[in-house]
Amino acid sequence: MTHGLPLVIVGGGLAGALAALRLAERRPDVPLVLIEGGTGFGGNHVWSFFDSDVPHGAHDLVEALTPVRWPRHRVAFEGRERVLPMAYNATNAAALDALVRARLPKAAYRLGAQVARIEPDAVTLATGERIAARAVIDARGPDGPMPGLELGWQKFVGIEFAARAPEPDCATVMDARLPQIDGYRFVYVLPLSAETVLVEDTYYSDTPDLDVGQVADRVRALARERGLLGAELRQETGVLPILIGGDPDLFWPENEPIARLGLRGGFFHATTGYSFGLALRLAEELSALPGLLDSAQLARWTRARFMAHWRESGYFRLLNRMLFHAAKPEERHRIFAHFYRLSPERIGRFYAGALTASDKLAILTGKPPVSIPAAVRALLGGSSA
Ligand SMILES: Cc1cc2nc3c(=O)[nH]c(=O)nc-3n(C[C@H](O)[C@H](O)[C@H](O)COP(=O)(O)OP(=O)(O)OC[C@H]3O[C@@H](n4cnc5c(N)ncnc54)[C@H](O)[C@@H]3O)c2cc1C
Repeated sequence: MTHGLPLVIVGGGLAGALAALRLAERRPDVPLVLIEGGTGFGGNHVWSFFDSDVPHGAHDLVEALTPVRWPRHRVAFEGRERVLPMAYNATNAAALDALVRARLPKAAYRLGAQVARIEPDAVTLATGERIAARAVIDARGPDGPMPGLELGWQKFVGIEFAARAPEPDCATVMDARLPQIDGYRFVYVLPLSAETVLVEDTYYSDTPDLDVGQVADRVRALARERGLLGAELRQETGVLPILIGGDPDLFWPENEPIARLGLRGGFFHATTGYSFGLALRLAEELSALPGLLDSAQLARWTRARFMAHWRESGYFRLLNRMLFHAAKPEERHRIFAHFYRLSPERIGRFYAGALTASDKLAILTGKPPVSIPAAVRALLGGSSA
């Protein structure tokens, strides 16, 4: 019998912690243990999102994460700059950590506990301690190349400076007026408070290799040019997967007995690698499931949810093939510049992964940003869309 046993979530990062928060609130009948190897929940992250990324029903959870909010945001390309009246928001790992500690009873989480082995009905810690479970959810985050998937990469280094941004109410989400090296390159500037600014140098690249020292120096140069260079408060690096194609059954075989959430389960936006909105959505859906939440149920449900996400991402994989296969790396910026001629509503639905048929058509119409033969080759080049 699994009745009295806890549901164990391995990984107290974004996806695992949000799922645990919702389950603790909505399924008090299911004992829970959230196991995190680090000393706090969420790691070292700022998570940004558009309003449209927040699914129905999740607004209270997002508000509890006390996000910073910018009522408008800027994008800029050679010869064209646009300030969109679309709010952009960001929360961070410290807010997630504080919320988990405030809302979960102490018995429902373990920090500094490295999991060495995962089974469908138990986990074994590095210390040898074994915890029996009604189900185990693997939310251990990214783990290098994802088997069966063809990927490009969005990689970046960000530094938080003690500096005052000239426009504290406007986030710069993409400024591509930079030498286009190593793929589509842009700078990202978030005025996180009156006294701090996050500056990131980002690349849509063919490879996951990131020379952190070199790119950090470029971030300092970009900050200096913008008058934002102050004391360095924090640094973050990211190498996020961008999904071009592949075989979902190889990534997540049908008979796999362990449930997954977060990047471990392929739950990320195919074109941005971001996962805040999807992590919220999965937390909502998981906590609304009926039944015992045992291992067979959760393994089946999370895989079915991944397969649905895969199908919904078909159009994004097609765009990614255009981006990575049809455009030369130094010309990728044209595809983004072309995209940003669209209305704020369409842009919001793009980031939320909720495009309508008319949005899909609108994205592909207009003067093509890449050569037509190359685009056709890229569109025909994969069978997975
Ligand atoms: C620097 C950075 C910035 C990002 N910014 C954004 C953003 O602005 N917006 C957005 O939507 N997405 C962003 N992303 C992408 C994505 O949303 C994040 O990577 C997100 O944190 C992924 O969530 P996750 O729960 O899958 O993994 P993680 O948040 O990485 O969580 C995995 C957790 O599992 C723990 N763990 C791993 N192995 C074990 C083990 N054996 N035992 C116990 N614990 C273990 C880790 O310590 C970690 O805390 C960013 C990513 C990075 C790296």
